[in-house]
Amino acid sequence: MSIKCDLIIQGGSILTMDNWMSILENQSIAIAGGRILDIYPQNQDIYEAEELIDATGCLVIPGLINTHSHIPMTYFRGLADDLPLDIWLNKYIWPLEAKLINHDFVYDASLHGAAEMIKHGIVLTNDMYFQMRAIADACSSLGLRVIVSEAMIDAKDTAAKHPIGTKLLELKEEFRDNELVSFSLAPHAIYTCGTQTLARVAELAQEHNLLIHSHLSEAEAEPYNCLKEHGMRPVHYLKSLGILESKAVFAHGIWVDNAEMELLAESEASIALCTDSNLKLSSGIAPIKAYRDAGVNLALATDGVASNNNLDLFAEMDFTAKLHKAINRDPSFLRAEEMLRMVTIDAARALGLEDQTGSLEQGKAADLIIIDTENLESQPLYNPYSHLVYAIGAHSVRDTVINGRVVMRDRKLTKVSEQDLIARAKDYKAKLIKEL
Ligand SMILES: [Zn+2]
Repeated sequence: MSIKCDLIIQGGSILTMDNWMSILENQSIAIAGGRILDIYPQNQDIYEAEELIDATGCLVIPGLINTHSHIPMTYFRGLADDLPLDIWLNKYIWPLEAKLINHDFVYDASLHGAAEMIKHGIVLTNDMYFQMRAIADACSSLGLRVIVSEAMIDAKDTAAKHPIGTKLLELKEEFRDNELVSFSLAPHAIYTCGTQTLARVAELAQEHNLLIHSHLSEAEAEPYNCLKEHGMRPVHYLKSLGILESKAVFAHGIWVDNAEMELLAESEASIALCTDSNLKLSSGIAPIKAYRDAGVNLALATDGVASNNNLDLFAEMDFTAKLHKAINRDPSFLRAEEMLRMVTIDAARALGLEDQTGSLEQGKAADLIIIDTENLESQPLYNPYSHLVYAIGAHSVRDTVINGRVVMRDRKLTKVSEQDLIARAKDYKAKLIKEL
């Protein structure tokens, strides 16, 4: 008699992304209670399930993990492009946010962004924005995993007078039973938060075992300003405040020197590389070679869609690899399998979730995507890693499974109408133009 489970993924080449980078052929994955119950030979009838996905001729890989996003910025896509960072922020994004940010706007824009991520094979995003509840509700309603945080902007440094993190801890308690939603502490950056605020964040992270999520040295001026104001460079400053005592993920990390990299490598910090955003805003190019030499964990991220302008980690893998091969004059630098690690297991590690997700192994969350390779652009297929990074685009993701639930099947979202989302985005366009 066979054992009952919820879902079986049958056949295909399973790229596990485990420690041995095992690739399993002719195997099936049995899923129950959101977890991988077993990976077993396809021809054995050990399990039975009501739902079955035939992955013959496909690649089955861990779902992609986006280590830095601002998901509700989806409606700002293409609104103001080809501008310097300070003008883009001060003249367009921040004034619009001041007028528009409320629960409904954030909820609707998050639905759109979450849907787009699922279609691009993303199963988890580490987000930073405002209106945490709206983001948590929107993402979890579509079945997307999300780490939610409120961007703390507190230049006046009022942490001593006004307690921070209260709302976050309340929501954390409220969403305790929601397996898709977790929370992190997100001081926006060292130049938007005061010293007391950052020190309090460090304490809270320790007290409540929370991830810290922040921006680091995106602009060239940041280290100079930090030196002038605090007598040390940003990473030393963060360390002096206790921020590096906890698990932390820093977006960008472009203008970081070798001594700072050593501090990052000694801590539990990771860098969320946002190559596309950094190139588009002309912020600079993160020193990936030096980071790797220092032993810093690296992952990829899309950043907000307004500065990218997509939510596509396949594209990030492709041009991050190529850009740094060219810069280092070394085609063997950043091999395809290393790039795939930066959006799966290394990304999970950056978020402190490597025991939960990021690879396909028994007991881990069933967060996976199925990629169709029965098409012209994927054949012949010699090396699946090479194809995933250099040949196959996000549109080849056929099915997305998160926490054991099929959230996209045959490129159709299962929990929302794509047409409705498109219509809503068009309505918001009219509103945003009026506000501009
Ligand atoms: Zn950002």
